[in-house]
Amino acid sequence: MTPSRVRAPSRGAAELAELLRRSERAVALTGAGVSVPSGIPDFRSPGTGLWRKVNPMEVAHIDAFRRDPERFWSFYGDRFATLSDKRPNRAHDALAELERRDILRAVVTQNIDRLHRAAGSRRVVEVHGSIEWSVCLECGARVELERVLTLLHAGQRPPLCDGCERPLKPDVVLFGELLPEHAMAEAQALAAEADLMLCVGSSLEVYPVAALPEITLGRGGKLAIVTQGPTPYDDRAAVRLGGDVAEELADVVNALGEGG
Ligand code: ZN
Repeated sequence: MTPSRVRAPSRGAAELAELLRRSERAVALTGAGVSVPSGIPDFRSPGTGLWRKVNPMEVAHIDAFRRDPERFWSFYGDRFATLSDKRPNRAHDALAELERRDILRAVVTQNIDRLHRAAGSRRVVEVHGSIEWSVCLECGARVELERVLTLLHAGQRPPLCDGCERPLKPDVVLFGELLPEHAMAEAQALAAEADLMLCVGSSLEVYPVAALPEITLGRGGKLAIVTQGPTPYDDRAAVRLGGDVAEELADVVNALGEGG
């Protein structure tokens, strides 16, 4: 063990490690904050990055896609390109490690950036979809990200379905769209079965995902929150950590020790 890793974890990190150790069906729920250390700004915070000059509610709306797919992709194509080269950070790594150690059952995420899978998490429920795929609303064809990026690089905006030449839609939940039923059903079942829900990097304000901790609490499970800024659940959390999510979760894994 190198000296940099023996830094004593905070009392909160040790408490969270103990909660995880005692749990049998822990589930993580992650939001935009978990990807901020990877250089992906939370687009809901005003004035950040790509979303500085546009209103995401307008440009990333299903009506905008239907009305003018070319204009939609002139914006969303940049978002694809920006997200596709980002790497997981220590928060993603820590959650993947907890799953490898059979401490965590699954990660439910609002993020579309694929970084939990890239870090090695196996059971990932992407309730807002993912940039991994784009779909043809006409024939149902699914097209991989690499192919869509190739089409975009070649100047094809919007990228078209090979079969019926209709515009592809990113397989992510746009404003004005419902969340995918199967993913939400799986997330709700995990929340109902969880004896511990570990909420990371989410303000827990966007429904219906924000209702998941309520399900766990209602079934007698516990809540742990690791995020900067307040959430509506802070008073009911067994542990509440407010530091940098990557550092906090790395500390928790250290506190669990080698082999957990
Ligand atoms: Zn098609």
